[in-house]
Amino acid sequence: MKFPVLLLLLAPFAALAQKPAPLLPLADPAIQKLVDEISAKNLEADVRKLVSFGTRHTLSDTQSPTRGIGAARNWVRDEFLKYSKAGGGRMTVEMDTFTIKPDGRRINRPVLMANVLATLPGTDPADTRVILVSGHIDSRVSDVMNAIADAPGANDDGSGTVLVMELARVLAGQKFPCTLKFVAVQGEEQGLYGSGHLAERAKKEGWNLIAMLNNDIVGNSHGFDPEISDDKRLRVFSEGVPANETPEQAKVRRQLSSENDAPSRQLARFINRAAQLYGHGHQAVLEYRPDRFLRGGDHTPFNQQGFAAVRFTEMNEDFTHQHQDLRTEKGRAYGDVVEGMDFAYLRRNAGINLATMAALALAPAAPVKVEVLTANLTNRTELRWQAPATGPKPSSYVVLVRETSAPQWQQRIPVSGTTADLSISKDNFIFGVASMDAAGHESVAVLPVVGR
Ligand SMILES: [Zn+2]
Repeated sequence: MKFPVLLLLLAPFAALAQKPAPLLPLADPAIQKLVDEISAKNLEADVRKLVSFGTRHTLSDTQSPTRGIGAARNWVRDEFLKYSKAGGGRMTVEMDTFTIKPDGRRINRPVLMANVLATLPGTDPADTRVILVSGHIDSRVSDVMNAIADAPGANDDGSGTVLVMELARVLAGQKFPCTLKFVAVQGEEQGLYGSGHLAERAKKEGWNLIAMLNNDIVGNSHGFDPEISDDKRLRVFSEGVPANETPEQAKVRRQLSSENDAPSRQLARFINRAAQLYGHGHQAVLEYRPDRFLRGGDHTPFNQQGFAAVRFTEMNEDFTHQHQDLRTEKGRAYGDVVEGMDFAYLRRNAGINLATMAALALAPAAPVKVEVLTANLTNRTELRWQAPATGPKPSSYVVLVRETSAPQWQQRIPVSGTTADLSISKDNFIFGVASMDAAGHESVAVLPVVGR
C-alpha cells in the first residue's frame, strides 16, 4: 500500500510548477569520514577516567590531584591541550572561571567554578558564526549537597562530557570557516550555573552563536521501569516557542500559528536531516518539547538568552542510575556506574553531533530578512530574502515546504536568486528558506515573517 500513501502525500503539491528536488541535500563524504573517526574505545576510556576521580560534585575537593571536581577539570583541560597540539595548535583552551555566591538552595558557600572550554577558530576572520557543543562535568548522588560520597556520574553526564572531548579530538586539526567551541560545564546539578554563566557571557560578548548542542545522558541504550531497549535512536528536545519571546512576537506567533517553528526547532529539524545523511541509520527523534518532565538542562539558559539550543538525551533512561547513592536494594544495583553503558550507542550519538556541527559549519550562513509577501489575496506564495552578511556567499537557496499540519519538511525547491514565486497557496503551507553552496552544503532553514 505504499504507492497510494505517496500519492496522498504529494497531492497538496500538485500545483507546484517547480521540479521537486530530493528531500535531503547531498551528503559530503568528508563529513562522513570525520563521523566515522569517532572511537567507542576512546569514549569508554574517557568515561572510566572521569569516574576514577571518585566524585565530580561541584562542591567537592579542588586541591587533590586525583579526587574531586578540580582534578577532573584539569584532566579535561590537559586532554583538550593534547588534541590541540596533535591538530596543529590552532585550538585554544581556557578555564572559564566564575564565582557563585551561596544561593540558599544548592550552593552553601562561595564557590569558584570553571567551565573547561576549547575553541577552534574559523579560518575566515569575516565569518562570525559560532557553534557550541556541551556536556556537564559535575556529578551527584541522592543528596544533592553530598560532595564527599562516590558519585561516578558515568552516564550523567560523563557520557556528554566525553562526547564533547571526542569531537574536539577528531575536529582539532580540521578547518572550518566559522568557529567551533567544545565545553564541559560545571554546576549543572546545583542549578545550571556553568551554562548560565556561559550563556550570559555569549550574550555580553555578542557571539553570533547559531547552534548550541547540549548532551546530557546520552550513553545508555537500556531503560528501566519498564524494561526497554533502544540503541537506534537519540532524542532531540527543542522549544517550539522561544523562551525570550516578547509580547509583540507572541501576537505575531498566534496570528501565524508558528508555535512549532522557533529557531531551536529549526535547528532540531536540521539535526534530524543530518542524522539521515550521516548516521548510518541512527535516528535523531524530534521531541516537540523543551525537556523531559521534572528535569532541566544546560540548553535552557541559552534559550533564555535568545539562542537556538537543543538537548540530546538517550531514548530510554534508567532512573535507577541517575542521582543515586551507590547501593543494592532488593537485588537491584543503584548508581551511575560504567557497567551497563553502551559505548557503541554513545559513538553513534556523538556522530549525530559531529555531523550537525560540520554540516552547519561548512554550509553558508542562513539567509536574513526572509519574508512572505501578503499584499495581495492570491493563491500563490511570494517569498523574498537577503544573502547573509557573514560567512561564505551562498551560490543558491532552497525553499522548504510543509503542510501546516505536517511536523517535518515535505518538499525542497531549489532557487537561484533571492525571491521565489510558487504556485501553491501561502495559506496552506509553512515555508523555510535555507542557503546553499556549490557543493550542496545547506544551512538551517529560516521561517519567513510577513512582508508587504
Ligand atoms: Zn545531567
